[in-house]
Amino acid sequence: MLIVQKFGGTSVGDLERIQNVANRVSQTLKQGHQVVVVVSAMSGETNKLLSFAEHYTQTPERSEVDMLLSSGERVTAALLSIALNAMGHPAASMSGRRAGIVTDSVHTKARIESIDPQPMRDELAHGKVIVIAGFQGVSDKGQVTTLGRGGSDLSAVAIAGALEADLCEIYTDVDGIYTTDPRIEPKARKMEKISYDEMLELASLGAKVLQNRSVELAKKLNVNLVTRSSFTNAEGTLITKEENIMEQPLVSGIALDKNQARVSLGGVIDRPGIASDIFTRLADNSVNIDMIVQTLGHDGKTNMDFTVPKTELLDAQKIVDQFVAEGEISECSYDENICKVSIVGVGMKSHTGVAAKAFQTMALENINIMMISTSEIKISMIVAEKYAELSVRSLHSAYSLDR
Ligand code: ADP
Ligand code: ASP
Ligand code: MG
Repeated sequence: MLIVQKFGGTSVGDLERIQNVANRVSQTLKQGHQVVVVVSAMSGETNKLLSFAEHYTQTPERSEVDMLLSSGERVTAALLSIALNAMGHPAASMSGRRAGIVTDSVHTKARIESIDPQPMRDELAHGKVIVIAGFQGVSDKGQVTTLGRGGSDLSAVAIAGALEADLCEIYTDVDGIYTTDPRIEPKARKMEKISYDEMLELASLGAKVLQNRSVELAKKLNVNLVTRSSFTNAEGTLITKEENIMEQPLVSGIALDKNQARVSLGGVIDRPGIASDIFTRLADNSVNIDMIVQTLGHDGKTNMDFTVPKTELLDAQKIVDQFVAEGEISECSYDENICKVSIVGVGMKSHTGVAAKAFQTMALENINIMMISTSEIKISMIVAEKYAELSVRSLHSAYSLDR
């Protein structure tokens, strides 16, 4: 088999752990498989590099940030390759560029446009293990780019797709996908399987165990994806097509996203095209909007509330200020002390009362819900950040996920 194995930051957190990864790769090779390894930077390294840049300015050039951050994964790739060679396994490390990963030019959150698998195939044909620096590519202008936080997962899936690998294993510090983050709810249970769609929702709604874009791509390319622990031999969780799962529970999991901030606009001129103007300008400045609530207008004015990632609040504020200066908005306020709790499950499609139960659960805990949004397979609520963990645990138990 051709197996892509991705090791996250904690798994390569120090030299000892990199040796542990080399041993694991060695075992897989000895079983007769071909292996392509994708690595993250050592844990904490990406944040450390970011803080170096922020020593000089809060708004470093994004292309320079990419140049800086991409170095983290290259260090690990080279070290793991050195360790494998030292064990007698011929290995070659590759940067994103060498691995043929071409992206667009949206620095710090680039999208992969194509992968040329030939350089990787050539090394494999020479009997080598390839160790690829995750999280990075090269733009069509020849500049190094990165794929957004957690982007090594995406590198692994994209490479598995390009090489038509039989399996893509994501090794991390938990032994699979749980009904919620086991750090928040120790009673969370590990799932044997989960559908691409549910995993995509959980990841998009804050479960950082997999980067959401990697799940989206895995679904599109039909990649066999497994998450498991690099520290134990426990079987992981298979992320697969819905039809491969016999019995779908009503609710599969609870996700929490603390990287949310609320923007409230008052006295917005209520004219056709106003929403388009505001949200187009935000989008043009790469601000990601999540929930939007507009209330019924009065006297030609209306109110709008929306959420953005905390990390993009400053950018959003700048745009809102322009509309205030132009007289289209009269008041604005911001709240960073919020979070989003979400309930995910494909079983919701065919059942009623799932949302009502969520609201009752919050009411029982006396937690005020600020915003609500629903789709076919999820319900999300914005609540005060101080209730984040309590909300997750209460919902987890309300839907009997601990049983
Ligand atoms: P890596 O560095 O290996 O990429 P991450 O820190 O990105 O690892 O992701 C693993 C973490 O994801 C776990 O330690 C866990 O706290 C968190 N997590 C959040 N939600 C879940 C979930 N539903 N199941 C498992 N882990 C989760
Ligand atoms: N090192 C990058 C990050 O911390 C990418 C990754 O680990 O997947 O976001
Ligand atoms: Mg990760």
